[in-house]
Amino acid sequence: MDAIAQAVALLPQAGPRQAIGEEAIGIKGFLETSFVDWPGKVASVLFLPRCNFRCPFCHNHQLVLNPEGHEDIPLTHIMARLAELEGWVDGVCISGGEPTIHPLLPSLIAQIKGLGLPVKLDTNGSRPHVLQALVEEDLVDCVAMDIKAPLDELRYARAAGAPVDLTAIQESISLLKQGKVEYHFRTTVVPALHKGEDLLHIAHHLSGSSSLTLQNFNPEDPLDQRLKGTSPYPEEWLQEMGERIASILRH
Ligand code: SF4
Repeated sequence: MDAIAQAVALLPQAGPRQAIGEEAIGIKGFLETSFVDWPGKVASVLFLPRCNFRCPFCHNHQLVLNPEGHEDIPLTHIMARLAELEGWVDGVCISGGEPTIHPLLPSLIAQIKGLGLPVKLDTNGSRPHVLQALVEEDLVDCVAMDIKAPLDELRYARAAGAPVDLTAIQESISLLKQGKVEYHFRTTVVPALHKGEDLLHIAHHLSGSSSLTLQNFNPEDPLDQRLKGTSPYPEEWLQEMGERIASILRH
């Protein structure tokens, strides 16, 4: 059986949830192997377009602001390659953009899991009901959720570049902290948006969580070009903050 036939044969039986058109989901990027997107695993990564946030530091802003500028990658091609990569990758990351804004996300994940591959979801946590359904239906094995800022309306809106429903963010945090799936919280640290005390504030809010990873801001090509070329924090400072945060999370 060739790879495509194998991939098709492995798809879940057709039904309303699997009635997914590749044009409808519009997958814009496919990285066959990544060593950095799922901690401790080798993963393929799919990038979905569009997002309900406009984080000034976003480095995937082409997918957010101009998704039509990128061609869709046929789902049949992706499924065939994933089938061929069996044994080489440990799972598939669904990233973006913000994947949970796509109504067909559960169907896409169901198809990937039909290949026997675990799935990790990257999310901004703004759609807790979607997250909850994915967890309850065993469609995600791991979730990485961004925490943009301390949970106060002004600072969160500034870091997300849009008004944010903090109740929804809190619901997603509480859901993940139940520990039904592996989860990771992460914050992209930007000097113009975050001071050390903000990071400690976030850590206290997440106290008892398994992890909060600090990612350094990349000034090469951010969504808000006013941040372009501005200096990120030194790596040593970030590492020191990471140690203080780990100790807060344990308590
Ligand atoms: S949540 Fe922010 S960083 Fe993530 S894709 Fe959307 S705009 Fe970019």
